[in-house]
Amino acid sequence: MHLSPHFTLSEMTKSQIALRRGIGNSLDPGNPDDAEVINNLRLLCLEVLEPVREAFGIPFAPSSGYRSPALNTALGSKPTSQHVLGQAVDFELPGIPNLKLAQWVRDHLKYDQLILEFHEPGEPASGWVHVSLKETGNRRRELTINRKGVFPGLGKA
Ligand SMILES: [Zn+2]
Repeated sequence: MHLSPHFTLSEMTKSQIALRRGIGNSLDPGNPDDAEVINNLRLLCLEVLEPVREAFGIPFAPSSGYRSPALNTALGSKPTSQHVLGQAVDFELPGIPNLKLAQWVRDHLKYDQLILEFHEPGEPASGWVHVSLKETGNRRRELTINRKGVFPGLGKA
């Protein structure tokens, strides 16, 4: 099931950890609770992933979109993670430094939180970019998170 021209529901729910550990991480479009999560994922595809693909011209699949509560717990994420609601996606583009990618998102897209995660200065390919988006009430907040802590702004850790 496509959520946007280049991105599918299965890409937005795929998790290697869930597969390896046998943790359920699928969504059923016929279930009203899941349908709301799928709508949130569709918004991410249309407003974040498609514009990134268009601007950079590079095909990619997100590394993490939806996380079921069980998967989220297995990953050690906070219960409040926006991934559980289908409101967050992690991604990187082959050959593009993650700081540059995060800066492009900041300068061009709508988002709630934009986080440069586990990026190490001097290692352009390290880490990944996390973007969350809600239908309304977006805070437009940028953070850098790494082993040393949580810092405001992008790449200033
Ligand atoms: Zn994330």
